[in-house]
Amino acid sequence: MTAASDHIIGRFAPSPSGALHFGSLLAALASFLDIRSRGGQWLLRMEDLDPAREPAGAADQILLTLEDLALTWDGPVLYQSQRLHAYETALTELTGHDLTYPCDCSRQRVRALGGVYDNFCRSRDTSPTGSSAIRLKLPDQECAFDDRIQGRYSQNLRHGCGDFVLRRRDGLMAYQLAVVVDDEWQGVTDVLRGHDLLDSTPRQIALQQALGYQQPAYAHIPVATNHRGQKLSKQHFARPLQRDSASTYLFEALMFLRQQPPAELRRAPPAEQVAWAIPNWDIQRVPKLATIPVNSSFS
Ligand code: GLU
Repeated sequence: MTAASDHIIGRFAPSPSGALHFGSLLAALASFLDIRSRGGQWLLRMEDLDPAREPAGAADQILLTLEDLALTWDGPVLYQSQRLHAYETALTELTGHDLTYPCDCSRQRVRALGGVYDNFCRSRDTSPTGSSAIRLKLPDQECAFDDRIQGRYSQNLRHGCGDFVLRRRDGLMAYQLAVVVDDEWQGVTDVLRGHDLLDSTPRQIALQQALGYQQPAYAHIPVATNHRGQKLSKQHFARPLQRDSASTYLFEALMFLRQQPPAELRRAPPAEQVAWAIPNWDIQRVPKLATIPVNSSFS
């Protein structure tokens, strides 16, 4: 699949680890409005790479919820579980350029390093075994980009994250590899998602450069948190969206994103709310913040 270079393409890429909650709705809505307001295509990609974490029916539930919210996507849904060969091909290409190495460090060892891998296995002559992870060799350099909401963001790849995993020890493909391969394959020009993924972006840019891919524009919206300051997520028991409250959620999401919806829009049907929001979308109004707390009816 290739995109005309002058065309805008965005995507929403939920992991079907549970139902959508208010936090995931924010990413979906903001990405949708940002793309539709520029006449672009909005794609849907199911990031279903970890079957053990995906309750049966969750992916279908997400599609139904998006339909209730009048967030209609273009084309067929892409399922990452159907794309394993593409990730393998990218991995083989990187290995062919001597950009990967096997790593058998234990999870405890990596955890003790505080999240930044020290590239221990890079200089060891480890031969890959069935239980080795595969890591990408990162250059010792700064990676910077201009986020459309958060401004300039920069990270030293070696000191800020260290060589990272492309294929996990259990054989599953890592999110970072799959997301980069699919953003390229789907011709994505504009990624808009939650601030929690801002610091993944330098890794994704490094991978794009290693694979000779286009770099999309990035925008990261604030993440909704509960009263304890935790990101709304399934782990923190965020409330699943209720199918009959779509209008309330959409209105509150527009408020969260500071889009200044008129009060009478609160009770309008979702299609009407979305029809108002597309031409009125203003990314400059989205707060340049990492997190914003939301009230307990959403968390
Ligand atoms: N699947 C990721 C999530 O649900 C989003 C990935 C992305 O937007 O790059 O958090």
